[in-house]
Amino acid sequence: MARKIIIVGGVAGGASAATRLRRLDENAEVIIFEKGGYISFANCGLPYYIGGEIAGQPDLVLQTPESFKARFNVDVRVFTEVSAIDTKAKTVTAKNLKTGEASIENYDRLILSPGAEPIKPPVEGIGLDGVFTLRNIPDTLKIKRYIDKHGCKKAVVIGGGYIGVEMAENLVRAGLSVTF
Ligand SMILES: Cc1cc2nc3c(=O)[nH]c(=O)nc-3n(C[C@H](O)[C@H](O)[C@H](O)COP(=O)(O)OP(=O)(O)OC[C@H]3O[C@@H](n4cnc5c(N)ncnc54)[C@H](O)[C@@H]3O)c2cc1C
Repeated sequence: MARKIIIVGGVAGGASAATRLRRLDENAEVIIFEKGGYISFANCGLPYYIGGEIAGQPDLVLQTPESFKARFNVDVRVFTEVSAIDTKAKTVTAKNLKTGEASIENYDRLILSPGAEPIKPPVEGIGLDGVFTLRNIPDTLKIKRYIDKHGCKKAVVIGGGYIGVEMAENLVRAGLSVTF
């Protein structure tokens, strides 16, 4: 009988695991649950979209649920959050974030690739308008729209890791004066 494999998270790790699984097993039933609206997007390109080097939003998206189904026969369910796992019964509870409907799906194998979230240091004002983190496409669009709408001239980047450096570089490219 065909194995049923559930993957939680449909971006870097989850999407790669799904395509690798398909190459290893033509018959497996593979389902990806992704709580956001996008799968398999180019995280590394996000700052470059803000800076304008990547011109179009579609260039950030490598695959869609439809293309994943057509090319790899993987069932991708976006806006669907896995909220519980029962390893004894081998089931997950998945909630459709648009309708609020929850369903239980059984599995033979479960792969977790839910990623991480940026740390928001507990500093005063962290929740104010104009303070952003960058992790995914919605974050990127929020930053770009804010700059365009407010005609921003100055930005401060907190965090000098490679994402901070790339953001600083691209904010400069977008015409802002940057401190980090
Ligand atoms: C701006 C930026 C630039 C980067 N540049 C580079 C680079 O140049 N080179 C490099 O090697 N790496 C880069 N990275 C890091 C790389 O993107 C991450 O290491 C990689 O995305 C991690 O993969 P992941 O599958 O663990 O998590 P993610 O790719 O973050 O995917 C996790 C997904 O799981 C979903 N999810 C979480 N919980 C649930 C749930 N309960 N139910 C359903 N779905 C859920 C999330 O919505 C998310 O979409 C960059 C990251 C960023 C943010």
